[in-house]
Amino acid sequence: MSFKVAIIGRPNVGKSTLFNRLAGRKLALVDDTPGVTRDRRVHPAKLYDLAFDVIDTAGFEDAPAASLPGRMRAQTEIAIDEADLIFFLVDAKAGLMPDDRTFAEVVRRSGKPVVLVANKAEARGSQSGFLEAWELGLGEPVPISAEHGQGLPDLRDAVIEALGEARALGEDEDAEGEDGSAGSEVLIGEDIADPDAEPAYDETKPLRIAMVGRPNAGKSTLINALIGEERLLTGPEAGITRDSISVDWDWKGRRIKLFDTAGMRRKAKVQEKLEKLSVADGLRAIRFAEIVVIVLDATIPFEKQDLQIADLIVREGRAPVIAFNKWDMIDEPQRVLAELREKTERLLPQVRGIQAVPVSAETGRGLDRLMDAVVRTHRIWNSRVSTGKLNRWLEGILAHHPPPAVAGRRLKIKYVTQAKTRPPGFVVSCSRPDAVPQSYVRYLTNSLREAFDMPGVPIRIALRTSD
Ligand code: GDP
Ligand code: GDP
Repeated sequence: MSFKVAIIGRPNVGKSTLFNRLAGRKLALVDDTPGVTRDRRVHPAKLYDLAFDVIDTAGFEDAPAASLPGRMRAQTEIAIDEADLIFFLVDAKAGLMPDDRTFAEVVRRSGKPVVLVANKAEARGSQSGFLEAWELGLGEPVPISAEHGQGLPDLRDAVIEALGEARALGEDEDAEGEDGSAGSEVLIGEDIADPDAEPAYDETKPLRIAMVGRPNAGKSTLINALIGEERLLTGPEAGITRDSISVDWDWKGRRIKLFDTAGMRRKAKVQEKLEKLSVADGLRAIRFAEIVVIVLDATIPFEKQDLQIADLIVREGRAPVIAFNKWDMIDEPQRVLAELREKTERLLPQVRGIQAVPVSAETGRGLDRLMDAVVRTHRIWNSRVSTGKLNRWLEGILAHHPPPAVAGRRLKIKYVTQAKTRPPGFVVSCSRPDAVPQSYVRYLTNSLREAFDMPGVPIRIALRTSD
């Protein structure tokens, strides 16, 4: 039995836009075909491999203005009641409003599993709204753009996390009663994370990676070397599972999920030259992944395109790791490595300390070190610093390198806390956020990176007014 999703949130956060994206307007037209009878308020929806029903809450806001809040709330409660899962939407561009908290309270009281969605995340200035969403106590917000279709792989993963794989993928079809009541009981149980609990680094979850790079850098050779070519050629067997977008394997007991491209799948069937990753594939791969391995041909490293990819990875909040491939062709490895590392630091200051590993996909050398670097970076990307430690660090900063005075007035920084992980995001409360120079924000970022040993991952800082 598939599950039902209700999209909840105050007016204008983008509920209908998300509804249309999930259900698709075409499906709504199909419903108008004479003879097709179905509950018009529930529409079939798809999110990659997840099939579910989404409850149409459009029109909830058509009530006369005077009775709007009360009526909306009643309707919302009906939808929540009916749902197995709630997408709670906020508008990251606009930031939190009092109504968001009211609706969040209704959702929390229902005890239903909920995915907190920070919509309009593609908009400029949405970062602080995204961080604010944490305050709702509904867990980690998933940044998406309903309008531009961004962030949907993360939304898919969040659904699986909230419902459990079996339920989300509909694999428990015969296990529960048709009415789903047994199912929802299971869901309210221990599967639901306590939003206030410290999310520990989970070694048992598959680590999602993708390989990107220019054509001929050696991506497919590298992937085959990592997974084992024969297994790719002969298809699934023990230790390897595939779905439509990824291939799973184990590396030293650690589960790895690798973004699988159309080209790789074809190679699994017929041995022929692989299709090259298109730009869109690259983007999709980056969004799928937690860690993105940039594969460079060490004999012709760092073309403009490589730097653009690196920048995109960082902007998407993923952590890059560099593989200098074809190392077997390098004559003076030590000198070249020192040069390349120096160049890397200079060209990618936004991820200072990025892991860069020489490998040869052809001989298999360096692959263990590459995967070590991936796991280490993933751990850093997930890291969390306690508020106590952060504020002791801040005391030191304020004593030795306080923010500059702007127009004769001192900027006051009061407090810092880590609002999110993956990548680490910090909120700094200060007297006049707008007046803090970018150079000082960069200084804080670098100092945080160094003090808490977070090399190679994007670090976000949001400035907020202190009261
Ligand atoms: P609802 O009232 O919650 O159903 O919100 P709508 O779906 O009607 O969207 C409200 C407004 O936000 C519309 O102007 C949308 O075009 C806009 N919107 C929706 N999603 C996004 C998004 O991802 N990014 C941006 N920038 N605007 C969005
Ligand atoms: P992709 O386009 O990034 O998938 O690159 P391929 O994996 O198809 O590799 C492109 C070419 O580089 C092929 O001829 C490979 O044999 C070669 N190649 C890949 N890795 C290495 C390596 O580590 N050393 C050497 N010498 N050649 C490599």
